[in-house]
Amino acid sequence: LNRRLAEFGTTIFAEMSALALRTGAINLGQGFPDTDGPEEIREAAVRALRDGRGNQYPPGPGVPELRTAVTAHQQRRYGLAYDPDTEVLVTAGATEAIAAALLALVEPGDEVIAFEPYYDSYAACIAMADGRRVPVTLRAQEDEGRFRLDLDELRDAVTDRTRLLLINTPHNPTGTVLTREELAAIAELAVERDLLVVTDEVYEHLVFDDAEHVPLATFPGMRERTVTISSSGKTFSFTGWKVGWVTGSPELVTAVRSAKQYLTYVSAGPFQYAIAEALSLPESYFADFRSDMLAKRNLLAAGLEEAGFRVFRPSGTYFITTDIRPLGETDGFAFCRGLPERAGVVAIPNAVFYDHREEGAPFVRFAFCKRTEVLQEAVKRLKS
Ligand code: PMP
Ligand code: GLN
Repeated sequence: LNRRLAEFGTTIFAEMSALALRTGAINLGQGFPDTDGPEEIREAAVRALRDGRGNQYPPGPGVPELRTAVTAHQQRRYGLAYDPDTEVLVTAGATEAIAAALLALVEPGDEVIAFEPYYDSYAACIAMADGRRVPVTLRAQEDEGRFRLDLDELRDAVTDRTRLLLINTPHNPTGTVLTREELAAIAELAVERDLLVVTDEVYEHLVFDDAEHVPLATFPGMRERTVTISSSGKTFSFTGWKVGWVTGSPELVTAVRSAKQYLTYVSAGPFQYAIAEALSLPESYFADFRSDMLAKRNLLAAGLEEAGFRVFRPSGTYFITTDIRPLGETDGFAFCRGLPERAGVVAIPNAVFYDHREEGAPFVRFAFCKRTEVLQEAVKRLKS
């Protein structure tokens, strides 16, 4: 393994899912739903396969039906107008979009600021682009029950070498949704310091209570400097299809496409047609999905509290970060390695998402995108 990748072993998700398989424990580690997305969308994929749509290399930027559906979605939900021909790129999931954006936009030695704890591919992709990652730590606010961004810390992290802010809201693993005020401050900073922004908004439809998802690209001066990333995996419960997309100015999208063309060239064809239909589902689909996940969040959050964890109630995503110190534990790694044996449940130690490992040591993440009876059983096991 070369110098750039040497520090990244097997991703924690593969490690913990393998542990779940080996031990037969309930897997609340890796974030994937245990119920597939809508039947009619699966039928749409089958139809595309049968009718021979997308069985050969689809167009590089993605099939026109999906690009149009993406722009219609951005317009309808957020009032963001993008040109489907020049301002959209379909990718192999958000994962490829993140990689292609960083490979396309970062020069060797450039500093990339990302919120810590961060989704694990960020650090690896910054490294592959030969950038330097600069973490800004989201701090646990026990009184508020959430993790909070310190805007002064963010401002202080910007230097003359900073090229790009890599933002994620709703945020995995903390469940924090950046507020309009926080986003406005980030936008002002980006404009003032002339920074590019890559924003990972894959959980855009998973926001709860009075939280609201506002895309960074909607703020003044941001449309032309922002690459927005989303994915069908989370919104439609098809994480295995790997259909994601990027929206942004023609210059930025062309740059990202320059990298994507040599990573995968194009993304799987038939699924693109199906996801075009998914994005056009009535609003009730999105509302039902959200309320279903909200009920699951409430169930697992209450159960974890009863089992003795301190719970940071997420405003978004399908993850709950907990603090294990009230259980008399301090090391999330050891806790997660032992949990299948002790309780028949798998979770993720948040420390893996930190450069400052000690900062993340007492936090453990549980996914709630599982059937009610599975969550109930997991809670029962954790309590006993
Ligand atoms: N970004 C975040 C914040 C995620 O949690 C995930 C995980 N699913 C991804 C990106 C990757 O998305 P995809 O499965 O579409 O590659
Ligand atoms: N995004 C999912 C999570 O955070 C998993 C994706 C992956 O396994 N790479 O659990």
